[in-house]
Amino acid sequence: LTVRQRPGSKQLIREINEALVMDTVRRHGTVSRATISTTTGLSPATVTGITGKLREAGYLDESGTLPTSAGRPTRLLSLSKTGVRAIGIRLSANVVDAVALNLSGDVVMVHTEPWQGGSHENAVDAIELAISNLRSRFAHGERVIGVGVAVSGIVDHSLGLVAHSGSLDWEEVQLRDLLADRLGVPIEIDSYVNAFALGLLLFNQRTLRDALIVNVGASIGMSLVIGGRIYRGADGTAGGLAHTQVVLTGDDGRPCHCGNTGCLETVASQWGIESELVRRGAVVNPELLVSQTSDPVLGDVLAHAGDVLGRAVANAARMFGPSQVLMAFAGGLRSERWVDRVRDAFSTAYMHDNRPTPDLEIVTADNTSWAYGAGCEVLAGLFHVDVEVEPAS
Ligand SMILES: [Zn+2]
Repeated sequence: LTVRQRPGSKQLIREINEALVMDTVRRHGTVSRATISTTTGLSPATVTGITGKLREAGYLDESGTLPTSAGRPTRLLSLSKTGVRAIGIRLSANVVDAVALNLSGDVVMVHTEPWQGGSHENAVDAIELAISNLRSRFAHGERVIGVGVAVSGIVDHSLGLVAHSGSLDWEEVQLRDLLADRLGVPIEIDSYVNAFALGLLLFNQRTLRDALIVNVGASIGMSLVIGGRIYRGADGTAGGLAHTQVVLTGDDGRPCHCGNTGCLETVASQWGIESELVRRGAVVNPELLVSQTSDPVLGDVLAHAGDVLGRAVANAARMFGPSQVLMAFAGGLRSERWVDRVRDAFSTAYMHDNRPTPDLEIVTADNTSWAYGAGCEVLAGLFHVDVEVEPAS
């Protein structure tokens, strides 16, 4: 929930109070109105008013009672399991992966819609088709409260803008507004890796206060979790590890799809690895990385990529001092030999003095994990409050 209002506005206070109540229920699972009142500091009457409104809108359910010594049992509230759905989308160059989530972040439906790639008009059509498929399976009365879309590339979350996506071959696409016009519900647009990070953060799957999350797939992304929140930078595009410079001399500069040369993306993303294999005259097979690591050219390309990637992540870790570094490899890219190389390069590059090296955890992400995170972007708006106060005019 981002509210742009003058301080003291009644609307602003109401929205903040609703998010506080929703967040208290999310944290407790099931909770009484009295506990909500003591936790939030809102008066019992205000809590009764807000919870009544949230129940009417289908956000909260009454679920069970607590016996009390005073006779009348206390009724407990929980997040509604039915009625309201958030949709998460992972948009790749040839497929739309869609999931429907309930308010507790459970995946209740999935659908995969192939598309041809190309223009953003085609993408909007394919996303609409995927959502129609999910909606056709909704129970009577169920409704969509928002759609989150994860896109590979440089995304300005606050503007809903895909600034650059190499895999989609897009520049400056105002995807949020295009989708909002078509679908008529609130839309969130974010990078794969920020969506993935939010999926880990929102329902406390992980206690991540200060962490770097690095996504390694068709392209490379990094999410900076600082103080338990995703840090987005002044222009909304923080975490640009992919386009940091790692090739300075020789190696013909390695042209990148961003227009620069020598980016990490050209060395260690799937796109970069495949481009390098082509340059060396190797036969490229999309399944090559996991199945044929004994191939000498591939082995050499992966070893170099692993050394560079591990070092780049260690450099980023030095700057931000995270307690944890989590790298998520796309399933098709995960070869144990390569992962070991990344791990070795990370710890070698990080080792400098007697300070401990942060934990490096390596996980495999499937397409659903990014779509799930995109759905969590919608749900986060119900629980979190970011107040941007407009300057007085
Ligand atoms: Zn680049």
